Amino acid sequence: MIRQDIKEIAPATWWISEFGLVNAFVVEGEAQCAIIDTGCGYGDIRVVAESVTKKPFIVLMTHAHPDHDGGIYHFKDCQIYMNDDDRSLLETNVFGLGSGNSFRRTYIETRGPARCPDIMDEVEKTIPADNPDCNFQSINVDDGDVINLGGRTLECIHTPGHSEGSVCYLDGNTRILFSGDTVNNSIILTRLPDNNPSLIEKYHKTLEKLWSREKDFDVLAIGHGGPLIDKSIIHDYLQLTGGLLDGSMTGMYEESGFRKGDVARFGKAELWYHCDA
Ligand SMILES: [Zn+2]
Repeated sequence: MIRQDIKEIAPATWWISEFGLVNAFVVEGEAQCAIIDTGCGYGDIRVVAESVTKKPFIVLMTHAHPDHDGGIYHFKDCQIYMNDDDRSLLETNVFGLGSGNSFRRTYIETRGPARCPDIMDEVEKTIPADNPDCNFQSINVDDGDVINLGGRTLECIHTPGHSEGSVCYLDGNTRILFSGDTVNNSIILTRLPDNNPSLIEKYHKTLEKLWSREKDFDVLAIGHGGPLIDKSIIHDYLQLTGGLLDGSMTGMYEESGFRKGDVARFGKAELWYHCDA
């Protein structure tokens, strides 16, 4: 059976690519190790994570979308940290993807053709037979909280927009910001009724907050693709959301693969700001 790739991207910091679909990261301190996100739950991501460290694990969720918490069933004996504002998502059918194995099948069928076309059948064989759900108990993690791994800390920054409870984790040792789906190559914000812009406004504030900290990090470790991209993309997103809000920029409705909605681009940033699917 195929396995996720794991690669060291900085000292004691590893990137797990779940077959090109979604990323997770392993961050090792002297006392314990954090896994940031857990993938969709294909195969056994814990075995992959434990292949590089013998330290005990905690789990840090960037947000509660099923492509990031679908592998949580491997870590239910660990402390799991997530912002409480995302707890309601655990009961929700996010983007019509469903949950458990119905989500895992839908995800590979819809994202596989773009992200891992040659191994879709192999990935499908790793779907767990016992259909584990994506529900879990969690400890709230909020703005300014510091997770101590021993000789290394991760600071939580609350970054609502992509989801209410989205957070980023700042690693002062490596100067990496683990940004999940808050900032990556292509961001989605749900379309609200009557194209209400409040989510764009909220996301714009989040970007201002992240950019005000830019002296503290050099690169972003992102939730899909990458895994590392330059922090300047935050500034591109900031320009883009500012332009959408003041009317100086505008996007167009597009359907591209599995993605549908109004999209605008600026510099390296792509924002599906009224996203339907
Ligand atoms: Zn997401």
